[in-house]
Amino acid sequence: MAQIYNSTELRRELHPLAEIGLETKKTSEFVLDHLKAIGVPAKHVGNTCGVIGEIDSGVPGPVVMFRADMDALPFEKDGKPVAIHACGHDGHTAMLLETASRLVGKIRKGKLKLLFQPAEETLQGANVMIKEGVLDDVDYLVGAHVRPIQDLKVGTLCPAVVHTASCPVDIYIEGKSSHASRPHLGVNVISVGTSIVDAVGQLQFNPKQVWSIKATQFEANDGALNIIPAKAHLGFDLRAQTTDLMKDMIEQFKRVVNGCCAAYGATVEFKFATLCPAANYDEEVTAELAECIKETAGADKLAPACGGGGEDFHFYKMAKPSIKNGYFGVGVGVTPGLHKMNMTFDDTLLPMGVAVFVKYALRHLG
Ligand SMILES: [Zn+2]
Ligand SMILES: [Zn+2]
Repeated sequence: MAQIYNSTELRRELHPLAEIGLETKKTSEFVLDHLKAIGVPAKHVGNTCGVIGEIDSGVPGPVVMFRADMDALPFEKDGKPVAIHACGHDGHTAMLLETASRLVGKIRKGKLKLLFQPAEETLQGANVMIKEGVLDDVDYLVGAHVRPIQDLKVGTLCPAVVHTASCPVDIYIEGKSSHASRPHLGVNVISVGTSIVDAVGQLQFNPKQVWSIKATQFEANDGALNIIPAKAHLGFDLRAQTTDLMKDMIEQFKRVVNGCCAAYGATVEFKFATLCPAANYDEEVTAELAECIKETAGADKLAPACGGGGEDFHFYKMAKPSIKNGYFGVGVGVTPGLHKMNMTFDDTLLPMGVAVFVKYALRHLG
């Protein structure tokens, strides 16, 4: 009888290992050791800290991949930098390890791949995994996330977590400095910046879709109260329900910013961060996940789709649109919220998520 892991216990062992970004070395070794111990062939994804395990039936059939993220978040405690699992990725890693242990010897056709990805929080990990070819043979891809208590009642699960696209952007405005008593000789970047904030706030998009666009930073100070400042930095945060809407938003944002700067005779430079794509699930997979939730937890535990935040998981579908993908939420009562230093949740509920993964795998590969 093969060993069955307990995701609650594993999560408690993973929690203190918390590591940041692409360098999840201790966590990766933990995952590799635990996969090998139950006879699941596993290796690093290329030279990265990503880990891929495979349970191959040897019989032709579909390839299903489950993905867990492994990284923690950086905080400061008593003046020192610390890494803390404040997004529950320790729970995700633990769920996938228990899932693997429950599926050893049960895959009768096709192949199950278990992907443990670093650097979700920095939005780098998925693209690094994609470059190493993890998607090449994949037909179905499923991920999951523990949800805040405000999103999902404790003990319930939802078949889709509808992340929006996000794109932060910095803009650097250059005007012209002058003595404050001779403002007509300068180009005041504060006037330019406030007109940008105002004009961007007037942009309108289809109200049937979720979107928001707002300034989050504004700095302009040439060192004295009597100097017209020549340089300003503004930061904006853009969110959109679909990646197409985000692309439209970015174009209109650029047009408005360029127009305001031209009107005042200032110049502008844009620095766009990585555009994180929106969720683009396949209805078929979401419906299957809903079935799996009903069959494992009971129909009364199936909650409607919830939303909020972003996820680099959506780079996978963008890179290979033919994959059928889905992503479910696990109501473990995360409080006071994700990304809070003192975030906690009921990890005795992680087996609910494991049951959904196991059921899903057996639907396609059992
Ligand atoms: Zn997070
Ligand atoms: Zn997360």
